[in-house]
Amino acid sequence: MNNLRKIDSIIPPPPAHMVGDGFRVHGFFPGQLSNKKRMSPFFIMDYGSKIEFTPSSEPRGVGVHPHAGFETVTIAYHGRVAHHDSAGNSGVIKEGDVQWMTAGSGVLHKEYHEKEFSKTGGLFQMVQLWVNLPARFKKTTPKYQGITQEMMGKFLLPDKKSIIEIIAGEYNGVKGPAFTFSPVHLYNARLAKDASVEFDLPEKYNTGFLVIEGNVKVNSENVPTDHFVLFKNEGEKIILEASEDAVVLVLSGEPIEEPLAAYGPFVMNKWEEIEQAIHDVNTGKFGVLED
Ligand code: MN
Repeated sequence: MNNLRKIDSIIPPPPAHMVGDGFRVHGFFPGQLSNKKRMSPFFIMDYGSKIEFTPSSEPRGVGVHPHAGFETVTIAYHGRVAHHDSAGNSGVIKEGDVQWMTAGSGVLHKEYHEKEFSKTGGLFQMVQLWVNLPARFKKTTPKYQGITQEMMGKFLLPDKKSIIEIIAGEYNGVKGPAFTFSPVHLYNARLAKDASVEFDLPEKYNTGFLVIEGNVKVNSENVPTDHFVLFKNEGEKIILEASEDAVVLVLSGEPIEEPLAAYGPFVMNKWEEIEQAIHDVNTGKFGVLED
């Protein structure tokens, strides 16, 4: 039998800041962690807790900006996000869906509220993760994985109402559709009141739970909505219980044991690579995108 995994800390949402005028986020990573590699391969976790947006004819969002050396994973819980990039790609991330963008060698893009959502306004809640790439994949060709809720792996719990949605990795033999460059498990645990579920995640993998909806118990500790549970790398088994209907984002990944140089929208191994990326953006190597 595996040991119960130890909780490092239960972190309340830090004060929110705006990203552009469309994304009000709590920056859990790396700011609330002891160091920038503490949750590696996850580098940033920006959490847009529930907010009601008023109708707007002009979609709110964030204008043209670059990314390189990692992946952005955007999970929409409420509301819809649209994007456009310098390679001509565009799309909409709908409620319940995930966009897994590999920035790799570099893209320019913009992200904003989808036009119709913007017009009506409404409830908005999302997560954006930055997942680092191992050095050998930093220059990989940019690509997108549009992962709809229908595509996710589904593991139904014995109460027949609660479900584990597997976005990446695997849970109890059910695989998620996302291709990842290093081992990652990413799930939504959608639990009905009083449901209980166990996770068995490798001790070495950095692991955390973000409570999206409802209050839960994690290894018997109460965890309120919008809080993040950071686990120690000791023990494997985690017991999650829903005190009320709940949604919990489960993150677990094998750490990338490489030097980290991160600046603005770039996550590299060496500072020379940051300087090179800035130079590449300024000389048009990431392409062009109208604001
Ligand atoms: Mn972006």
